[in-house]
Amino acid sequence: MSIEKIYLNGVETEYELVRKNVKNVNLRVKGNGMIYVSANRFTGKKFIEDFIRKNSDFILKARERQKERANKVNTEHFSEDGLKSFILSFCKEVYPYYEKRGVAFPVIKFRRMKTMWGNCRKERRILTFNLNLKYAPERCVEYVVYHEFTHFFIPGHGKDFYDELSKVCPDWKEQRKKLKEITLG
Ligand SMILES: [Zn+2]
Repeated sequence: MSIEKIYLNGVETEYELVRKNVKNVNLRVKGNGMIYVSANRFTGKKFIEDFIRKNSDFILKARERQKERANKVNTEHFSEDGLKSFILSFCKEVYPYYEKRGVAFPVIKFRRMKTMWGNCRKERRILTFNLNLKYAPERCVEYVVYHEFTHFFIPGHGKDFYDELSKVCPDWKEQRKKLKEITLG
């Protein structure tokens, strides 16, 4: 098996080429979107690549369907309003701990984000939570709240940050792992 590169509709794309004793060139799109081609050792590279290009519509459509399917895997644990009120009341619940550390009660905001679950703007005293947390179980959401509150006194994600986080959320690793399984489109 070898990984080859081809320009498909102007985009450099990888495909997996397997040489085996087959009559025709066979093409399929794997679950991860990878193009898989098998051909016998007499079939030239140009023939194979022309074959892939001829099937580029099929490839794009297959990848599109996979993306749709991947998005559907997300289970909704909250309605959007349900999530907001859960986060608000959890912030209030944990606040006394942070109040003792000199943290003022923050402005809580919600936004749909693609790359982060939460955000802490220390100077402006704003915590922003991703509305896509509705796809996360309660405990994951609690972890994100602890995480963002901790940033009020520890920036970055060094050892000191996780040591502090562990005091209030000892299972943070497990929750972070669960969050990684959610696809943010
Ligand atoms: Zn962080």
